[in-house]
Amino acid sequence: MNNAAGSPRSVELRYRHRVKEQELERQAQVAQLLLDAARVLGETLEPEPVYERFHDLLAGVIQHDGVIVSSYDEDEGLIRCDYAWTDGARLDPTTLPPLPLNQKGEGMQSRVIVTGEPLLVNDVAEVVQRPGGTYYDVDREGTIRRIPDSGETETRAAMMIPVKQEGRVIGVVQLMSSSVQYAPDQLELVEGLVGQMAAAVRNARLQKERRRLEAAEAAARAAAAEREKAANVLQAVGDGIFLLDDDGIVRLWNSAAEIATGLRTEGVRDRDIGEVFPDWPAIAGKIPIAEDGASAPSVTLPVGLGERELWLSFVAVRSADGIVYAFRDLTSERRLDEEKSDLIATISHELRTPMASVYGAAETLRLRHDDLSDEQERKLVEMISTQAARLAQITEDVLLATRLDRGDLTLEEEPVDVGELARATVDTMRSQLPSATELEVEVAADVGAASGARDRIQQVFVNLLDNAIKYGSGPFTVRVEAADGVVRILVGDSGPGIAPAEQQRIFEKFYRSGPQLTRAQGGTGLGLYISRELVRRMGGRLEVRSEPGAGATFVVELPRARERLAQGGSPLDAG
Ligand code: ADP
Repeated sequence: MNNAAGSPRSVELRYRHRVKEQELERQAQVAQLLLDAARVLGETLEPEPVYERFHDLLAGVIQHDGVIVSSYDEDEGLIRCDYAWTDGARLDPTTLPPLPLNQKGEGMQSRVIVTGEPLLVNDVAEVVQRPGGTYYDVDREGTIRRIPDSGETETRAAMMIPVKQEGRVIGVVQLMSSSVQYAPDQLELVEGLVGQMAAAVRNARLQKERRRLEAAEAAARAAAAEREKAANVLQAVGDGIFLLDDDGIVRLWNSAAEIATGLRTEGVRDRDIGEVFPDWPAIAGKIPIAEDGASAPSVTLPVGLGERELWLSFVAVRSADGIVYAFRDLTSERRLDEEKSDLIATISHELRTPMASVYGAAETLRLRHDDLSDEQERKLVEMISTQAARLAQITEDVLLATRLDRGDLTLEEEPVDVGELARATVDTMRSQLPSATELEVEVAADVGAASGARDRIQQVFVNLLDNAIKYGSGPFTVRVEAADGVVRILVGDSGPGIAPAEQQRIFEKFYRSGPQLTRAQGGTGLGLYISRELVRRMGGRLEVRSEPGAGATFVVELPRARERLAQGGSPLDAG
C-alpha cells in the first residue's frame, strides 16, 4: 500500500496547504492590524497625533530608520513635509524645504505623485546616483545633506506610498531603512496603514475645519447679537446719534436724532450729511473729534434746518466705521437763557426810568413841600401817578406773558361785535391824540360777530394802535371785514414799516427793533408777543404785512361766532 502521506504529491499538497494556511494567517493578521489601526487612528481629531500614532503602528510591524509624511499641493506644485522622524528623533517638519514636483517623474517622491503607484527600492544608493532627481539625507539633528553631491547615503531600502483622496495623489509616505531590505508584502501592509492614516487625517482635518467654521459662526452670531444690542441701545438713548463714514455719508440715524430734527431715518440714511445739514462744512470744523477713547469735549452750535434754527450740543468720537456724532437739542434751554437775560435787561431798563421819576417826585414833595407852588405840586403828583401806572403796566405785561407761557390763562369765548368794539376803542384813543391826527375806522357791512373774549380783543386793538402811533405815522386806518369764516381786523399806518427780516422777530418775547427807536420809545417788547398769543388762544392769528418805507399793516383774524348760525342764515353762511 502506498503511503499517500509519503508520496511526493501528498508532500506537495501538504506544503501547498501549509503555504495557504500561512498566507491566510498573514492576511488575517494584516486585516486585524488594519482594523486596530483604523480604531487607533480614528480616535484622534487632530492631524498631528494621527501621524504620531501612525508611526507607532509602523514601528510595531516594520523596521525603519526614517519616516517622512509629505503633502502635495497641486496648485502650487510643491511637496511639503508634514511629519518627519529619523534615527529615533522627531524633526520639526517646517525646517525641511518644500520641493517642487518633478513633472517628468524623476526622483522617487515625484514619480509616486505623477504615477500614483507605490515604489519599493532596495538599491537606494544606486538610484540616487542617477541624474534627474533631487535627493536629501536628513540626520537626527535635522541637518539636510544633498546627495550624492555631498557624499553617499546610508539608506539601503525605501518604500514610497502615495496618499490618495478621491483618486488624486495628495501626498507621499516614505519609509527608509539602512539595515534591511523591504519585501512586496511589507509594502502592501504599509499601503494599508497609509490608507487608514490618510482617512484619519482627512477626518481630523474635516473635524478641525468644522470646528473652525462653528467657532466662526458662533463669533459672527455673537458679533451680530452685540451689534443688535448696541443698535437697540442707540435707538433708546435720549441723545441724537448719527454715524458718518469716511465719505461723509450718514450710516446711522437714531430715533432721538429723528425727534430732534424732525428728519426721518429713511430720508437721511445713505445721504451726504451736507444734504441733511446745509451748513455742515462750517459746523464740522468746529466740533473736536476724540480719538482713541479720549473723552470728547462738547460744543454747542446753531444748526439751520430749513426755516428752523436749532442749537445742538455736539460730541464726536472716531470709531472703526467712521465718526460717531452725539447731539443734544439745547434750543429751548438756549431760548430760555436768552429770555432770562432779555427779561433782566428789559426790567432793569424799563423799570428804572419810571421808578427814578416816582422816587424823585416823591422826594421833592417830601423835602421841598413848603417851597412848591400848587401847580408844581399838582404836576409832581401827576407824574407819580403816570409813572406808577407805567410800572403797573410793565408788571402786568410780564405776568401775562408768563401766564401765557404756562398755559394757565383761560379765555371766555363769547360773540363779540368787533366793528362796534373798533369804533369805541378808536374814539377813546382819538380823545388822547392831537386833533390833527388822521385816524379812520371802516367797518364793512354785515361783518357779524367774532368769537373771543371782548376785553382781550380790545387789549390787542389798543396795543396795535399804540404801536402804530408810537412807531408809525399817520394817516392811520382801522378796517374790519369778513372773509372765509373769519372776522378780519386790519390796523395800518404810513410809517417806516418793518424790514422783512424783522417781520417774524417782532413777535418774539422782548424783541424790540432799532436801538435808537428802542431807547426813544419806552416798551418791553412784550406787546406783540402777548397780542399774538391772545389771538391764537381765541382760535385766530395775527400777522404783519409791510413794505419798508410804506407803512405796516397788522392783520388779526378771529373765527366767526357760532351764534350767527343759530340766529340767522343757513349753515352754509358760515363760509
Ligand atoms: P414794544 O412796543 O414794547 O417795543 P412790541 O412787541 O409791541 O413791543 O413791538 C415790538 C417791536 O415791533 C417794536 O419795538 C417795534 O420796533 C416794532 N413795531 C411794532 N409795531 C410797529 C409799527 N407799526 N411800525 C414799525 N415797527 C413796529
